[in-house]
Amino acid sequence: MTRLDSANLKPLFIERMKELLGDDFDNYIEAIEREPPRSIRCNTLKISPSDLKKRLEAKGWKLSQKFKKNPEIMIIENELEPGELGRSVEHVLGYYYVQEIASMLPVIALNPKPDELVLDLCAAPGSKTTQIASLMKNTGTIIANEVSLGRIKILASNTERCGVTNVVITKQDGAALCRKLKKLDYGFDKILIDAPCSGEGTLRSTPKTAIMWNINTVRKLSGVQKDLFSNAFSILKKGGEIVYSTCTHSPEENEGVVNSILEEFKGQIKIERINIPIKSREGISKWKEREYLEDVKYSCRIYPQDDETEGFFIAKFRKVGD
Ligand code: SAM
Repeated sequence: MTRLDSANLKPLFIERMKELLGDDFDNYIEAIEREPPRSIRCNTLKISPSDLKKRLEAKGWKLSQKFKKNPEIMIIENELEPGELGRSVEHVLGYYYVQEIASMLPVIALNPKPDELVLDLCAAPGSKTTQIASLMKNTGTIIANEVSLGRIKILASNTERCGVTNVVITKQDGAALCRKLKKLDYGFDKILIDAPCSGEGTLRSTPKTAIMWNINTVRKLSGVQKDLFSNAFSILKKGGEIVYSTCTHSPEENEGVVNSILEEFKGQIKIERINIPIKSREGISKWKEREYLEDVKYSCRIYPQDDETEGFFIAKFRKVGD
C-alpha cells in the first residue's frame, strides 16, 4: 500500500487541521503517515463470525475481534499478499466485506432492525447497504440509491455477492429521488446519508486525496450535502431516524450541515447522542466566524490518531414533529 507523504499536504489544508486540532496536530500527522490496519466485516447473512474466523485461521490468517458487541468486525493482524483480501474464496463467496472500521460505525449508529423500511441515499459501492441488510436479516426493504452509473454496477455486484435479497437499487440524484418519493407519501423508518464529501479522513488509505483536495470542493459539497439532507428529512416518518456521515474533517461539511439542518427544521428534529465502540470527540462549537447551536456537540468526530482508524464524522437525528 502506498503511504501518505505529508509533504504533499496543501498549506491551506494544514492550516485548517492545525486550527481544528491545536497541540494534537503532530499526532494526527504521525497517524496518517502510518499504514492503516486492515479490517473485514463478516457477512452474517452467509456465515457466523466464529465459522468465518475458523475458516480464515485455517488458511494461516491471524484475526482479532476488538469489539465484544460486534464480533463481525475483524482485524487482520498478519501480513497478506497484495490483493489477497479481495481474491480469497471467502471474499468471492461473500462471507466478508473488506471495510475500514470507521466506515462501519454509521450503520452501527443507525441500528436498522428487521422489517423496517430503510433508505440508503448515497449507497455505492455498497459497504453500508450490505451491512444494513445483515442487520435487517434480509427482511423489510432497503432502497439503495446512487447517482453514478459506474458505481451502481459495483453496488449491484456487491449486494449480489453478499446475498442481499431485500434491496431495490435506484439511480437518481438523491435529492430528486426524495422529492419523487415524497409524492408517493413514503415514510421511512431509517435513512442513511453517507454523503459525497471531500474525503479528508481517507488520506491514510488514499494518499492521492491530498493532491486533489481544494477548498472550493469543500464549499460546493456542503451545499450538495444540505440539499440531500433537507430532502431526505421530508420523507422520514415521525419518530424515524437519520444518520448523516462523511469521511471528512472539514466543519463546513459536518457541523455546518448539522447546524443548518437543526435551524431549518427547528421543532421537528432532535439530534441524538450516539454510542459507537471507538473513541470519538464531540462536534465543535464554532468555526471561523460561525458559532453553532449548542446541540451540534452531540455529533461525533473520529480522528485517525484516536483509535487507529480513518477519519469520520457521524451525527444521528430523530424526527419529532411533522
Ligand atoms: N455509502 C457508500 C458505502 O458505504 O459504500 C459510500 C458512499 S460515498 C461516501 C458517496 C456516494 O455518493 C458516491 O458513490 C457518489 O457517487 C454518490 N453521490 C454523489 N452525489 C450524489 C447525489 N447527488 N445523489 C446520490 N448519490 C450521490
